[in-house]
Amino acid sequence: DEVASQVAAGEVVERPASLVKELVENSLDAGAGRIWVEFQRGGARQVTVRDDGCGMDREDALLCLERHATSKIRQGIDLMTVRTMGFRGEALPSIASVSHFRLVTREHTADMGVEVRVSGGKTEDVREIGAPPGTQIEVRDLFFNLPARRKFLRGEETESAHIVHGIEAIALANPKVAFECRRDGKTVRSLPQAKELAVRIRDLYGQDFLDRLDEIEQVVGEGFAISGYLARPGQGRRDRLQQHVILNGRPIVCATVQQPLREAYADAIPRGEHPPAVLVIEMDPEWVDCNVHPAKREVRLRQPDLLKRAVYEAARGVITRTRR
Ligand code: ADP
Ligand code: MG
Repeated sequence: DEVASQVAAGEVVERPASLVKELVENSLDAGAGRIWVEFQRGGARQVTVRDDGCGMDREDALLCLERHATSKIRQGIDLMTVRTMGFRGEALPSIASVSHFRLVTREHTADMGVEVRVSGGKTEDVREIGAPPGTQIEVRDLFFNLPARRKFLRGEETESAHIVHGIEAIALANPKVAFECRRDGKTVRSLPQAKELAVRIRDLYGQDFLDRLDEIEQVVGEGFAISGYLARPGQGRRDRLQQHVILNGRPIVCATVQQPLREAYADAIPRGEHPPAVLVIEMDPEWVDCNVHPAKREVRLRQPDLLKRAVYEAARGVITRTRR
């Protein structure tokens, strides 16, 4: 089973950013209002995610490290039909099988917390401990026991950028949750709880950036609704880092959305640039292809054409409106 966990770890944890994503999604599922992320050396040395969510009792703290122990209700494997982010109870045991892992958790009603230490999948220590309510998970020396995989990690700058970008995407999808992100001891993102998406965008990228966007007029189609912010004409970027698509509360990568954006902005921004965007799509779960890898952000849609046209028209709306 240890080997099975390590194999699963290879799928769930591609790089430090993917484990940050798993841990942060668990915090969101736990109803956290605040999430703290801290990492060192691109996450390869250490990643810590702490939240003020519901926490776990001793039994659940031990159970969550067993494979396929999930507390979340599933309908088959269709992750989009449930609002919770979790997949099938593989993330924690997988991560714990390839790192020095420490879990500290306390339910709000409990006097004391519990600490569990696991090393390379082996539980080393379980004890009572004083702790704030919520959960803290510390992952040290990722892939210490899989040197071949550790070698695949890119440089610290690259891995750090992936982590921070992943947090930005999740933060945009969850404006009401506060995020704090520290890299090598320095705060790199500090996002208070925001009532509205616009405030979260401003806190993340600045007022100047927000001014370069225009709120789209909400589109309600059959089985979906689109809202959010799109670039005004002339406001392109070389990279896609500020192009965010949120589907049913999750950040995704989706060609169905990127293509009509590219077409709509073809004459509105310089060639080779991408329009910044924060598009929030709510869609009937039936329309979302369930046949996707859980750890990846790519999503396929069953009936992409209506959505494509809606995104295109929303973008043209912004472009013509702001040109007038
Ligand atoms: P999944 O998210 O698919 O259920 P995980 O391995 O990510 O699988 O987590 C296993 C279980 O551990 C979760 O179902 C949840 O009950 C518990 N858990 C994990 N992280 C947290 C957290 N931050 N707060 C409370 N419970 C958690
Ligand atoms: Mg999970």
